[in-house]
Amino acid sequence: MNAQLPINQFKILHATGATLTRFGEVPNFNEGLYELGKGAYAWMVPNGSWGETNCGLIVGDGESVLIDTLWDLPYTRQMMSAIEPIVNTAPINTVVNTHSDGDHFWGNQLFPNRDIIATQACKDMMHHISPKSMTALGKVGAVASKVPVFGANKIGNWFSGMVKPYDYSNIIITPANKTFTQELTLNVGGREVVLMEMGPAHTSGDAMVYLPDSKLLYTGDLLFIDSTPPLWAGPVENWITAIDRMLEMDVDIFVPGHGALTDRQGVIRVKDYWEFIYEEVSRRNKLGMPPAEIAREILFGSDIERLGFLKWDSPERLFLSTHVLCKHLNGEGDKHQSTPEVFSILSKQGKLAHELPLCRPRCMHRLKH
Ligand SMILES: [Zn+2]
Repeated sequence: MNAQLPINQFKILHATGATLTRFGEVPNFNEGLYELGKGAYAWMVPNGSWGETNCGLIVGDGESVLIDTLWDLPYTRQMMSAIEPIVNTAPINTVVNTHSDGDHFWGNQLFPNRDIIATQACKDMMHHISPKSMTALGKVGAVASKVPVFGANKIGNWFSGMVKPYDYSNIIITPANKTFTQELTLNVGGREVVLMEMGPAHTSGDAMVYLPDSKLLYTGDLLFIDSTPPLWAGPVENWITAIDRMLEMDVDIFVPGHGALTDRQGVIRVKDYWEFIYEEVSRRNKLGMPPAEIAREILFGSDIERLGFLKWDSPERLFLSTHVLCKHLNGEGDKHQSTPEVFSILSKQGKLAHELPLCRPRCMHRLKH
């Protein structure tokens, strides 16, 4: 089943003209700025892999709100120049960050002296990874990718492939300067814009942005379309609750954090994924299997392929999600995983990715030599 809305029904105001994605894949849709309704836009980046993040723009009378910035300054500037003709008469006074992953807010510094709004829980996490450490990860990964010992080449290839399209230099972490919990309604030049806290789920401080007058919902990373959602924080029950909430809302178009525009069908697909994973992981966890084995059994089993989830970008993300799920299932949901612990899990995940050479993006699943 295809979870994409027919993209041709939307007007593309500015196309970047990219013929391949940042990871060298054939794009599922054109990259650029789409008009989704009156004064409602999305900056869409195919195919929703690492850092291929979608942003939103809502324009009211004389002012605008931007939903999320991008993972580096050059890509954020590219989006800014595309929206410039729209916002020159309705300046962006407010930036909303849907959560604390760098690919949704590391471009914030290009919007000085604005209100930058996020949930309090999101703000608390905005310093958890530094841009310098991502640059280092790319460099170390590139060196390791040439060392065929203990899978170092695979781990290196995966990490360096992930960050290769990005330039993290000169980024100054610019966190939110206004926070909310639960819900906050903004008046953006006469339009009602509702910010809704739904986390902890994907991350600890997830929020989505609802534009009732256009029946439009910017979901942040609570939706990935044709791309595998990673569970960084959990519990997954909250994620499923967030999806149920989306399905109850009066919404025609969902703008996911990653992947194509979608309707309710795409939302239901993500719910199907999490219900399937929850069931598969819980059953094995009860038997005392360790998370790494659980993830392998699911990934190399026939069900995940039959259900079409292996076709989603980066299916190996299930490896980290399984660790987080088991932590919650075993009553250790409050236990904070340190950054080295997370990187250790991600290293194993990168190695595992190379056992899935047909999965996308191909450059992160296959060695070049
Ligand atoms: Zn993201």
